[in-house]
Amino acid sequence: MKAAVYFGKNDVRVVDVEKPGVGPRDVRIAIEYCGVCGTDLHIFHGDGGAAPVPVGTIIGHEFSGVVEAVGAEVKSFKVGDRVSADPNDWCGECYFCRNGKAHFCTAMKGYGTTYPGGFAEYVTVPEKQVYSLPDCLDFKAGSQSETTSCCINGIDLCNIKAGQTVLVIGAGPIGLMMTQLAKYAGAGKVLVSELVEEKRRLAKKLGADVVIDPKAEDLQAVIHRACENLDCVIEAAGTPFTQAQAIKVAGKTCTVMLFGLVAPETEIKVKTFEIFNRELNLTSSFINPYTFSRAIAMLAARKVALDEVITDIVPLENIVEVFTNPEYRKRGKILIRTKCE
Ligand SMILES: [Zn+2]
Ligand SMILES: [Zn+2]
Repeated sequence: MKAAVYFGKNDVRVVDVEKPGVGPRDVRIAIEYCGVCGTDLHIFHGDGGAAPVPVGTIIGHEFSGVVEAVGAEVKSFKVGDRVSADPNDWCGECYFCRNGKAHFCTAMKGYGTTYPGGFAEYVTVPEKQVYSLPDCLDFKAGSQSETTSCCINGIDLCNIKAGQTVLVIGAGPIGLMMTQLAKYAGAGKVLVSELVEEKRRLAKKLGADVVIDPKAEDLQAVIHRACENLDCVIEAAGTPFTQAQAIKVAGKTCTVMLFGLVAPETEIKVKTFEIFNRELNLTSSFINPYTFSRAIAMLAARKVALDEVITDIVPLENIVEVFTNPEYRKRGKILIRTKCE
């Protein structure tokens, strides 16, 4: 089968590999779509994902598809089922797994980061990682179950209370998911700061109360006009500039969620006194502990709507262009079509 394999820094190639086998408790999925994540870009550039990526790994961790084969001991799925899968497979035995922090599992397998993933015609995962997609949820949105599950973990950690004011920095796919989730978490007002006009339009359509072009307007001044106090800032652009900006514009007792992934060596300058005198809660969100079912529920209910967030479907053979052509950074969510038609 065809698959996109990581061969090292700036070297991903679509090559022929052997179709994965199926163990007794495994499910093999014929992939429909696999989303390109910011993490995949970091992997391409040699920065790794949540963990270092071994050379030879088939990447891609946001996928949907149809069950094509099941192992003899599989009970909950059959050939033909429409599914997605949680790519983060924890051991259940280490200290963290046994103490409610399975996302910090010391023996974590990541399908698409440390084990073969979804930029391929087929992927095999253990049955316990597989989730059914309801009929009302199409394969395109269904492929975004993992992304949405990561965002739900982030929103939970923001502790948004009814009526509070939230600022989202960056209206890429993550920022647009966060905007929708912040509303459902109870935010009274959601402000979105975004450079690209089309993305600001979409943020407004998906529930943002105020959209800001930070090049044309002073972000701090807009915040002051919009609310007495900014309760939560969600940084979803993943740059050192916007991370520093998130801390700078935060209100009193504000939660600052640094959600966007930056390169491991990134440092920013912070005046720690400003954390003290506003009693800031600086936090971040690591992958998707126990949020996969909730993600599918939010997508199926269209409370996280992605029709316009997904802007491009690219065939697997052109995947490298998605990593190398900066034009794609200005777009929304890009899905790879792995099926050979
Ligand atoms: Zn991802
Ligand atoms: Zn573990």
